[in-house]
Amino acid sequence: MSNQTPSLGEIDLDAFRQSGYQLIDWVADYLTNPEQYPVLAQVEPGDIIAQLPTSPPAEAEPLADIITDFEQIIMPGMTHWNHPNFFAYFSSTGSAPGVLGELLSAALNINGMLWRTSPAATELETLTLDWLCQMLALPQDWEGVIMDGASMSNMIAIAAAREALDLQIRTKGMAGRADLPRLRLYISEQSHSSVEKGALTLGLGQENVIKIPTDDNFALDAHALQTAIEADLAAGYRPFFVCGTIGTTSSTAIDPLSAIADLAAKYKLWFHVDGAYGGTTALLPEMRHHFDGVERADSMVVNPHKWMFTPIDLSVLYTCHPATLKRAFSILPEYLRTAEGDAEAVKNYMDYGVQLGRRFRALKLWMVIRAFGQEGLAARVREHIRLAQQFATWVDESPDFERLAPTLMSNVCFRACPASYQAQGEAALDQLNAQLLDAVNATGQIFISHTKLRVYSLRLAVGNIRTTNTHVEAAWQLLNETLRRFVDSGMGSG
Ligand SMILES: *Cc1c(COP(=O)(O)O)cnc(C)c1O
Repeated sequence: MSNQTPSLGEIDLDAFRQSGYQLIDWVADYLTNPEQYPVLAQVEPGDIIAQLPTSPPAEAEPLADIITDFEQIIMPGMTHWNHPNFFAYFSSTGSAPGVLGELLSAALNINGMLWRTSPAATELETLTLDWLCQMLALPQDWEGVIMDGASMSNMIAIAAAREALDLQIRTKGMAGRADLPRLRLYISEQSHSSVEKGALTLGLGQENVIKIPTDDNFALDAHALQTAIEADLAAGYRPFFVCGTIGTTSSTAIDPLSAIADLAAKYKLWFHVDGAYGGTTALLPEMRHHFDGVERADSMVVNPHKWMFTPIDLSVLYTCHPATLKRAFSILPEYLRTAEGDAEAVKNYMDYGVQLGRRFRALKLWMVIRAFGQEGLAARVREHIRLAQQFATWVDESPDFERLAPTLMSNVCFRACPASYQAQGEAALDQLNAQLLDAVNATGQIFISHTKLRVYSLRLAVGNIRTTNTHVEAAWQLLNETLRRFVDSGMGSG
């Protein structure tokens, strides 16, 4: 080292350029063949952190060294959502155009809180969400706003619904108010936990989140919903919000949106639709009948980061009451005032949620939509549904497996039920399936997850942009071979 003061400011941009080229090559190689890695990280808790220094570097380190550590230490601890045999949870992938969008967004590093702080970011968000609204055949007067995830979108929808009550909760709060009725929300037993989390974050109280029973297909029972609302009214409570899900997280059940909309209208509830995953199926004309009634919703969430090949994170909250949403969240300190904002000539997205600082997320979605086209996106989603239906057929035709829920989208809920175990009862079958899950995941060849649908259920979800017939067939074969070994050795039984 020379004894001169090291220069301040940015690192050497020639070194950046060199590492940048190298990393683009690395990313292209990775996305070409993620199958070179085990899908599920084959590490034990603490393995990764143990290989890294416990204190930060005092001196600058070369990018090349950092990248070497990324490859040698970080990569082995990655679970590969890009792997075509990733069938767990809701299998979701980004895509190359989405990666480029993230790259540019990181480079620009704007904060899109106000129109003025980057006009194109605001206007592209408005335009892209309008495109998406058209692509999903949703009502054209809906306005969208980008959130980090559906958990946030669900919570923001509840907040807007509460604001719509005109109970002055924004100004007076909820505590210590004798004039305030108990506010009640309705979800189904199969609704995503984030709706409940949103309610408890907003101080509505977990006890006021009523979980309506579901029918044999795990869809919300509208009669039970009406009964619950009537009981609450009789008790002097104030029902105000109901959530219907299109594509529940466990089994992709579809709640009866029309019937819920009827009840929402009758009892003046805010009707929110959670389509975090399933909302994407509205790309397909043949799936749109499932959405009948959505046009009467007050808000809806769809996550392009779940099944629209957009890198995490990007969730969209649509509502036909943007003014109510704004009333719930807008606070304008002097330092954020602008002439065009005061004149209401522009939209300032900071007014429509909790976040002030906002990333330029719309860019990647705009690039994804353009690079694949509406038809290209629809064709991929349609193929994923076809692959799942095919897997469901194999399950149905096998004497050793059974399906546990209708396969309406691209997720199959099933379990092994070989004849030799059936006599041993449900507990033995639960145990067998849990062991089967662990065994197939431990191979590193596939990754599936589980849920509970009255009984322990395996879940195979197709949603990866690289998944083909071959991968689904191989998964089925691995499940069968593994089960056969268990049965032959009497494992899990008795
Ligand atoms: C995944 C999921 C969520 C939560 O989404 P995040 O973006 O991870 O917060 C909410 N609702 C449903 C139906 C989901 O499937």
